[in-house]
Amino acid sequence: MRAAALLVVAITGFPAHAQHVHGVARLEVAIDGSKATLVLTVPMQDAVGFERAPRDAAEKARVDDVLAKLGTASARLYEPGGEARCTVAAAEARVEKVGGGGKHTEVVARHELACANAAALRSIAVHAFDVLKRVKRIDARVAGPRGQAKGRLTASKRELAW
Ligand SMILES: [Zn+2]
Repeated sequence: MRAAALLVVAITGFPAHAQHVHGVARLEVAIDGSKATLVLTVPMQDAVGFERAPRDAAEKARVDDVLAKLGTASARLYEPGGEARCTVAAAEARVEKVGGGGKHTEVVARHELACANAAALRSIAVHAFDVLKRVKRIDARVAGPRGQAKGRLTASKRELAW
């Protein structure tokens, strides 16, 4: 039982709704069979420039815009490397409150890739920096058949390899 519980923690990676750090987004990549699931969590402050309910139509539009950009399958946020031949099977983005009674909120974007040759999936270039200009760094973790890996990505160092 204990081993099973530890395994679950290892696979899910980041604890859900852990306190976030402004300027830093988190990316979890889970590879399972022919599927890769990518969950990007961005502090609202970094996604839109404020971390509270929108005060006017312009701020509301900014939130809608970032949700559309992060939650659209055709947005090229991720570029799988090699010959994995992945397509985006599903994408969504929403605003979530960070737990613990605080007032922090974040944007959580989830993408599912379907890969014709998942065994060749050994790297992903993360272009979310183009949408998220305020994000300085993305702390990424990968869990897949080849074990786990992590990386710190920046706008000038976008490739996560494992
Ligand atoms: Zn915050």
